[in-house]
Amino acid sequence: MGAIQLFQPTEFEYSDDIRLPLLTMVRRFLHWTDLLVILRTKRCRYHCSFCTLPSRSLPNSPSHEILWEQWSSSLKACQDWLPQIDSISLGNEGSVLDRATLDSEIFKKIIESLKDSCRNAKRIALETRPEFVSIDECKFVSQTCQGLNVDLTIGLETIDDHIREKILGKSMTRKSFEEAFSLAGQFDFSSTIYVVVKSNPFHDNNEAFEEAIATVEWVKALANFYKVKLILRLNPLYIPRDSKLAVKLGTAMYKPPSLLLVIDVLEKVYDPTVKWFVGLSTEGLADRELTYKGAYPYSPDAVRALAQFSISQDLSWVTKARNILESVPAREVSSVKSACNGYQEQQ
Ligand code: SF4
Repeated sequence: MGAIQLFQPTEFEYSDDIRLPLLTMVRRFLHWTDLLVILRTKRCRYHCSFCTLPSRSLPNSPSHEILWEQWSSSLKACQDWLPQIDSISLGNEGSVLDRATLDSEIFKKIIESLKDSCRNAKRIALETRPEFVSIDECKFVSQTCQGLNVDLTIGLETIDDHIREKILGKSMTRKSFEEAFSLAGQFDFSSTIYVVVKSNPFHDNNEAFEEAIATVEWVKALANFYKVKLILRLNPLYIPRDSKLAVKLGTAMYKPPSLLLVIDVLEKVYDPTVKWFVGLSTEGLADRELTYKGAYPYSPDAVRALAQFSISQDLSWVTKARNILESVPAREVSSVKSACNGYQEQQ
């Protein structure tokens, strides 16, 4: 069982016991005290190049009894926190609305139990791909989660179809994303959208900056149009070990985006009508040098400042993080060439 930590760490402890969920954590998420539970279900059927999350899940569906045991153990582990919990994030390293991985019967049982156990819960965030967001599913979720504000958490990653399809291998169209978003509006769900900063590892900083801004602006316009309350999560790209993307990059001296690039993007697109979250977790999937922690400049104090920004939405924390990073002494970079020197982007 992962440790219960009120302040979100950047690395989590995952369980490898099938009777426990992959992760249980009480964390600050924006202004909420959020119970994050990641169930270990049948693995996600997609094979995105930049993601190895499915490897942590199971090849076949576990029984309802096992899933129920996972959920019950989460509640038990954080029983002292339950009265304070006002938000729940439910995930399965894939899509909790994919009924091939979490069927509607056990989903309903879990939601009913959390309403009983977390009496002050006001919202539930459900992580899913847009393909699983249909009218019927929205009706079911809306009825099952009655009394809770529902958030659909979706990884768009980038507005750029070429990058999303050919580099990230996401197999997800903009059309399916927009359809899910419009349903979120119709059902009065909020939506948390993941945007990757430097979604194309072959980009330089300027290209990555422009691309992230274009993505965020498009999502903001869509949220305005469909009247969806928006949380934008900016995730600096990391390259998971043994991922298809890692293979594609080969032994290139990949230059991960630094937190300064994330700050540049955030300062450019910030809008107080949107909630912002800087994704600082690398989910235990990548070696440090292929994450923002391996970029220059890096400072754990800047990480803490950005985490405080995500909780408070107070931009002065972003300024603080910038100041910290800008005062990190220059390091020897002679061996670090440009992101992909000598490597051509493969189409
Ligand atoms: S990014 Fe999402 S959809 Fe793609 S493999 Fe990972 S969990 Fe599955």
